Amino acid sequence: MTEKQWPYPNEAGLSAEEQCDVLVLGGGLSGINAAIAAARSGCSVTLLEKGDVRRSGAAGTGFDHWEMACTNPGCKVTPEEMTRALEEEQCYFSNAIGHMIETEEGWDRLQDIESMGGKIRDVDGEFTGQPFRDDWTGLMYAYDYTNRYTLRVWGTTIKPALVREARKLGVRICSRTEAAALLTGKQDGRPVGTGAIGFDTRTGRITVFSARAVVLAMSRPARVWLFNSDLPGLCEFRPFSSIGSAHAMGWRAGMEFTLMEKSVRGEFSAAGRSFPPYGTGNNHNTWYAATMVDARGVEIPYVDRDGRELKTVDERYRPAPGQKFFLKGGVIDEPKYEWRGPETLPFEELMKRGYRLPFYADLTSMPEGERRVIWGMMVGEEAKTRVPIYENYTARGFDPRRHVLQSYGTGWQSAAFLDQERQLFGAPGGVMHDWNLETNIKNVFAAGDTLYASDCAGHACTTGYWAGQHAAGAAKKAELQKADPDFVQRERERLLKPLTVRDGLDWREVNAAAAKAMQNYCGGIKCDDLLLQGLKVIHDLQREAENIQGRNPHELTRVHEVSDILAVSDLILNACLSRKADREPLFFKRSDSRKEAEEAENCYLVLRKEDGTVKERRVPLQFYGDLTENYEKHKEGGGLNE
Ligand SMILES: Cc1cc2nc3c(=O)[nH]c(=O)nc-3n(C[C@H](O)[C@H](O)[C@H](O)COP(=O)(O)OP(=O)(O)OC[C@H]3O[C@@H](n4cnc5c(N)ncnc54)[C@H](O)[C@@H]3O)c2cc1C
Repeated sequence: MTEKQWPYPNEAGLSAEEQCDVLVLGGGLSGINAAIAAARSGCSVTLLEKGDVRRSGAAGTGFDHWEMACTNPGCKVTPEEMTRALEEEQCYFSNAIGHMIETEEGWDRLQDIESMGGKIRDVDGEFTGQPFRDDWTGLMYAYDYTNRYTLRVWGTTIKPALVREARKLGVRICSRTEAAALLTGKQDGRPVGTGAIGFDTRTGRITVFSARAVVLAMSRPARVWLFNSDLPGLCEFRPFSSIGSAHAMGWRAGMEFTLMEKSVRGEFSAAGRSFPPYGTGNNHNTWYAATMVDARGVEIPYVDRDGRELKTVDERYRPAPGQKFFLKGGVIDEPKYEWRGPETLPFEELMKRGYRLPFYADLTSMPEGERRVIWGMMVGEEAKTRVPIYENYTARGFDPRRHVLQSYGTGWQSAAFLDQERQLFGAPGGVMHDWNLETNIKNVFAAGDTLYASDCAGHACTTGYWAGQHAAGAAKKAELQKADPDFVQRERERLLKPLTVRDGLDWREVNAAAAKAMQNYCGGIKCDDLLLQGLKVIHDLQREAENIQGRNPHELTRVHEVSDILAVSDLILNACLSRKADREPLFFKRSDSRKEAEEAENCYLVLRKEDGTVKERRVPLQFYGDLTENYEKHKEGGGLNE
């Protein structure tokens, strides 16, 4: 490293040690909530965040809706009813524990966030009298205006408010610190302590954080199939910094994972081929329920779940006759109540019906309040659209009262992808856990998108808070285990090794090679021979990765990420090898599908690695028992109540 060129001190040779009760890895919505909950329980808390905690994570820059807050004063759906619907919608390959926590506690978290300064209601009366606003509370609803389970929120205000609260509570926040290795359980057959090794992404300093309990909150894997070396920042839907570190560390440490065989054909922004998510004219989430027109200006009608064409805009926000409520927003893999456009019908069908490309979102004909809430509030508050779309387009003269906005690719996705260009999108696999959100490794908890079949801001905040409470409860009973010095030394060498490589590979080359290997051997159609070949290539690349060079802490961090991506690829390939029969809800298709395996595999396949060997156990769907009873039971066991 040449200090002259690098603007931060060179601390690559230095190391330090710290201790706390609860260590939180990842400072997005789930991590920051976990830290707040644990600190409120009286624990000393340290949080490691690779980016800058004030705006890091998928929702750090904002989000426009908060789903499934079923105990809010306007909601007509109970938490259990909603959780059951979400389970059914995912054919029971769903995370009902997470959804039960989300639906029961979303409103509590929202009120808590409001007390910290986050904006969750229309206090200025900007939308008074609109059908989506409750004029008594000022709460603003999205999607199902009759049942009111999802709220429109001013998401840009929320992350900074949470960070202020965490600081007030004395949480030690280490921004620009990569959690680079997990100190937990046994590795190479011996206990290595509890905690993590942190790597300063600016100075290269390595710190060993020992803790009584750990919460993993580092989101989910990305850049596994899709990577563009020229536009790395636009490789995936989620932030560049999140590549599945929890999955990689957990896999190395013997943690259990499930549903990792589930992947979908690329949907959102990826590999630099698309506009920012929700940045094109569409009718999904942020843009629901924009009027869509074809190239001639002919309106493409909405229909309800029974195929009945809707005549008014208001009907788009109401359940069909005889339907209690409809699901919308976030992870709805099988839309049951949607505009039958690119989102649900193949292009060929739309063409057969005579619609002409390109399509446009046409807000000009929408009622004034609906137009203003989509273009003004939703596009203005959503994660990646505020600056590039809302501010830039407005500055350049886009006026939603007069102009329409074009759709690209196959519609709302903003780009078209090949079947082998896959993503862990929607509700993909992740860490297996119990009702306390504890993993199979004692005193290690997980939250947010790190959990299997998880997604969304409300889910991240509620499960984060829950995991923080339970981690605090566990920390109060746990001894502090010091880190094993041999393990630390080995990790130190691994993390710093790229500095010593001369004329080596660039991290981008290996990331691109890994992505290509996953496309070739773990694409839309799988079979044992391809997957085994894929494993061989990924293992070869793991050896090649020893020769990646890193000239400064920034590049070192990228090299560590590539090593994590390779570990995640190994996990995914093994999960795909385990499932022998096609499974539609998991978008899992084999050319050598074994029909006879179908019934026995109607369950979670749960994998972990022990001494280099993959172990599998099968867990029945709905293993979590009675939802309300278990929610109540485990709620009482939380750290806050102890
Ligand atoms: C563009 C976009 C729009 C969205 N819109 C909505 C919406 O309107 N409503 C909604 O409900 N949901 C929305 N979501 C989903 C929602 O934002 C996420 O589900 C939620 O933020 C997940 O929270 P999390 O804490 O699990 O992960 P994140 O908030 O992504 O946080 C993970 C954090 O871990 C950090 N990290 C990763 N690896 C490491 C490491 N090795 N060491 C240290 N730190 C690490 C990352 O930097 C990041 O800050 C959207 C997501 C995206 C990407």
